[in-house]
Amino acid sequence: MIKVEHLSKNFGNLVVLKNVNFEISEGEVISIIGPSGTGKSTLLRCINLLERPSAGSISIDGVDILDSRTDVPKIRQKMNMVFQSFNLFTHLSVIENLTIAPIKLLGKSKKDAEHKALNILAMVGLAEKAYNYPDELSGGQKQRVAIARCLAMDPEIILFDEPTSSLDPTMVSEVLSVIRRLAKEGMTMVIVTHEMDFARDVSNRVMYMDEGVIYEEGSPEQIFENPKKEKTRSFINRIR
Ligand code: ADP
Ligand code: MG
Repeated sequence: MIKVEHLSKNFGNLVVLKNVNFEISEGEVISIIGPSGTGKSTLLRCINLLERPSAGSISIDGVDILDSRTDVPKIRQKMNMVFQSFNLFTHLSVIENLTIAPIKLLGKSKKDAEHKALNILAMVGLAEKAYNYPDELSGGQKQRVAIARCLAMDPEIILFDEPTSSLDPTMVSEVLSVIRRLAKEGMTMVIVTHEMDFARDVSNRVMYMDEGVIYEEGSPEQIFENPKKEKTRSFINRIR
């Protein structure tokens, strides 16, 4: 479904991604772990076309998305992203956050978009907050709205960049349980996370990134119980 080949990214002289290669199949859940500053966010941002790679190719369903003729909004509809800092539209109510893109980008009627938005909000446990504003919500609620906003676009793939890193510990589980539910329903997801127990039980595959490369990848059991490389082992021992 997603194929990344020989992807590199520099910011000036700083080499952030070095020849990254991987494929993700439909329905797979991939966790990306690794120290900060190793290019995890940059990798997701390249896949979602928020950064332009310096070299390499990225294709989705066989279509080269770096081609200048690519319909960027269409790609972002297929492959939506959830950020650490929520990035909600603060001047819009919760339901408007969910309906604006389906109305403007997918051409849905307001009535259909609202109907769908209310169903999704119920699914993430926030039906009663539909007419509140983001400022009136807790961090965990905001992040559930951000996930709901993604789902309102009927994405095929969701990218998560440390979705629980800016939350109070008490709010982490409400967000992780929404992601777990999406995994059960077969959503294809790439999740950058420091929640090791979660990564272990939600993913099909774990990629350990270090200094701009995918240093080691494997099943959760392999990466967490029996990493082949010393660097992976020491990261996992450190974060546990
Ligand atoms: P991670 O998500 O693994 O913590 P990032 O992808 O955010 O790592 O960052 C990797 C490196 O790239 C860091 O050294 C960071 O400072 C640098 N970097 C990220 N974005 C930019 C940018 N827009 N301009 C310059 N340097 C950047
Ligand atoms: Mg990051």
